[in-house]
Amino acid sequence: MMSLVTVGSVAFDAIETPFGKTDKIIGGAGTYIALSSSYFVKEQNIVAVVGEDFPQEMIDKLSNRGVNLEGLQIKKGEKSFFWSGKYNIDMNSRDTLITELNVLEHFDPIIPESYQNCDYLMLGNLSPDVQLKVIKRLKNRPKLVAMDTMNFWMDIAMEDLTKTLKEIDILIINDEEARQLSGEYSLVKAAKKIREMGPKYLIIKKGEHGALLFHGSNAFFAPALPLEDVFDPTGAGDTFAGGFMGYLASTDDISFENMKRGIIAGSAMASFCVEKFGTERLENLTKSEIEDRIHEFVQLTNFDMVQSV
Ligand code: AMP
Repeated sequence: MMSLVTVGSVAFDAIETPFGKTDKIIGGAGTYIALSSSYFVKEQNIVAVVGEDFPQEMIDKLSNRGVNLEGLQIKKGEKSFFWSGKYNIDMNSRDTLITELNVLEHFDPIIPESYQNCDYLMLGNLSPDVQLKVIKRLKNRPKLVAMDTMNFWMDIAMEDLTKTLKEIDILIINDEEARQLSGEYSLVKAAKKIREMGPKYLIIKKGEHGALLFHGSNAFFAPALPLEDVFDPTGAGDTFAGGFMGYLASTDDISFENMKRGIIAGSAMASFCVEKFGTERLENLTKSEIEDRIHEFVQLTNFDMVQSV
């Protein structure tokens, strides 16, 4: 049985969309990744930090989904990470309104002994310095190291980010971030430049327009499921990454062909995430709901071409 270690923010979010607004709700890249991957991989472990204000109820929910929380630090007298964002009318682009690092500011990731020898590592959105520490603190290099990042870290920690990129296998970012990281508008040119920075594989997420996978001279594209209503895209990218890595870990196959299946698994999970605010939709999915959704993806792109020119 393969194991997955996830590192990422476990946090509070406040979200504003053209259709509604929330007070502080549970969010965080690590939360979304762990919930999503829990539907695929049994042995999964989280490395994160929260403050005293973080509700035990959510910790219990993660634990009930089989997430090992030995690596979750709870800091007495401190506050959890808080992020607030506002979506534009197209729901594809958003502005960050507030980022309060709080406990993340001095986060020193602890890797419990039981996490050592993990096979798959997902470095969720966090300071690149912390992401690198996690790689270095694992005694053996995992089979596959994937990483997410965002414009926030490109703006304030580009030097650390450059170092961390050299140590990973797959970078998973969105189109806007790929453009900022590479300085190229064309995503094909951006993909080339980014892979010269370290990762052999690159996934570029394009929100409602699907996701692209690049490796060597190969490329693969998966659409997003056309949904009637999108309530809240927050965490969709992390949910995608969780489904992708969970699928790879559960099948223990890191070939390009299997990564394509992983992308479909990730896209299916992301399509659930956006249906409700926060993590709600990811908390109680059934196996058949996920299987049906994956089947919808297969149908969406499946065609038989009978006649060419
Ligand atoms: P996504 O919508 O997939 O890009 O992820 C949104 C999640 O990332 C939210 O739940 C936030 O709590 C978290 N997040 C936002 N900014 C940061 C940051 N600078 N570092 C770590 N996590 C963040």
